[in-house]
Amino acid sequence: MATFAANPEALARLPRALAFRYDALPLGLADGVLSVALADPADAATVDALRAATRLRVRPLPMAREAIREHLHVAYGERTEPAGEGGSTVPAVRAVELLFARAIAAHASDIHVEPGADGGRVRLRVDGILREHETIPAGLLPAFVSRLKLLAGMDIADRRTPQDGRCGVPFEQREIDARVASVPTTDGEKLVVRLLDRYAATPDLGALGIPSAILERYRLAANAPWGFIVVTGPTGSGKTTTLYASLTELDTGSRNVCSVEDPVEMRLGGVSQVQVNVRAGLTFPLVLRAFMRQDPNVVMVGEMRDAETAAVAVSAALAGQLVFTTLHANDAPRTIDRLAELGVARHSLAAALTAVVAQRLVRTLCEQCRVREAIPRPRRASLGIAQDAWYVAGGCRACAGSGYLGRTGVYELMELDDGVRDAIATGASSVQIAQLAARGGYRPMRDDALAKVLAGTTSFDELTRVVPWSGAR
Ligand SMILES: [Zn+2]
Repeated sequence: MATFAANPEALARLPRALAFRYDALPLGLADGVLSVALADPADAATVDALRAATRLRVRPLPMAREAIREHLHVAYGERTEPAGEGGSTVPAVRAVELLFARAIAAHASDIHVEPGADGGRVRLRVDGILREHETIPAGLLPAFVSRLKLLAGMDIADRRTPQDGRCGVPFEQREIDARVASVPTTDGEKLVVRLLDRYAATPDLGALGIPSAILERYRLAANAPWGFIVVTGPTGSGKTTTLYASLTELDTGSRNVCSVEDPVEMRLGGVSQVQVNVRAGLTFPLVLRAFMRQDPNVVMVGEMRDAETAAVAVSAALAGQLVFTTLHANDAPRTIDRLAELGVARHSLAAALTAVVAQRLVRTLCEQCRVREAIPRPRRASLGIAQDAWYVAGGCRACAGSGYLGRTGVYELMELDDGVRDAIATGASSVQIAQLAARGGYRPMRDDALAKVLAGTTSFDELTRVVPWSGAR
């Protein structure tokens, strides 16, 4: 069972006597950096002492002293408290540890803890879908919530205002970043924890499910010396993964690659990543302007959400840099309207933009239990397909009864030829832009989605759940 302090590699680097002397709890070790929980992470003398003793760079993380001591005894193999005599604190500590371990093992992206009459309802978001996980007994819930807030550095006495915090959760030689947000509901505090695995394997553009015809053309744009590439879709549609995969294909040795994100979801080698921190004044436009003074070649803007950021990004592209960004828009043609709404002049957009990708994530059918089913004749007619059978979701142990296992992307790519550029500059509607782009090869993402349904990768139900579908073609 994974527990909070059970990172043997990290523990082995800090001798027990020092750990207890400084109340320092080793949490993880990655890239020569030892993450250590301290009651006062700003205590430079302690950090220096730990650095000298371990000969490692030390990253101090906040944790309550009481919690550190509790973990130290478990981690270094000495228990001062007989089991069951810790009041509600110890069970709460265990319950939180266990929840983190199970959520990470289930590849959950989020943990939801909601108060109710019978206790705390805990749900996990896996492959984009929330599912019931467990119920925290009502008697344990207050201590459980406090424990989670304490870990994330939140004020446990304040239960009436929304708060946010974060902590690191050691897991398999690395640290998972947990971002906790609280909201006071009428039933009590609701907590949502976002789990980010920043040291997971970097994504591979060739393994994201991008159809080969789109991938080939996208790679040309993404490897061009300059340009403006936008990846669009709602929250949780895999946009950032596509950008990360694009950046990892670049030659970062010969180019200065910078990225500003909120949050930094994954560490990328060779890329200068900056985390937005609004409280510290580190905003998207401020960081972007600072990048512009550092001789950039490639700039990634995690998300385009304000006029100032959009203006700086577009002028960077026009000045000869390669700019990647994400945006919330329904499809590729409508991205033009969204950027215009952000105040970007249409003629600048027409000149700067090189490619727009729109995407969604669909759950892939569990191959152990998917069921082949005849496609009703009217459906075949309305879709204009000759194939007479496809797969629908079943349910087995391998997929926890859901019928699905993992996800893949569905994509559309709009490239900008002269016709499309003219249309953008002259203020054409997104429908007109889509029609013009179609002449150059643009196909709406439902085409890719339908191809994946017919190939048995996903189901038609999943397609209609996720992909914008006007019905008529
Ligand atoms: Zn299954």
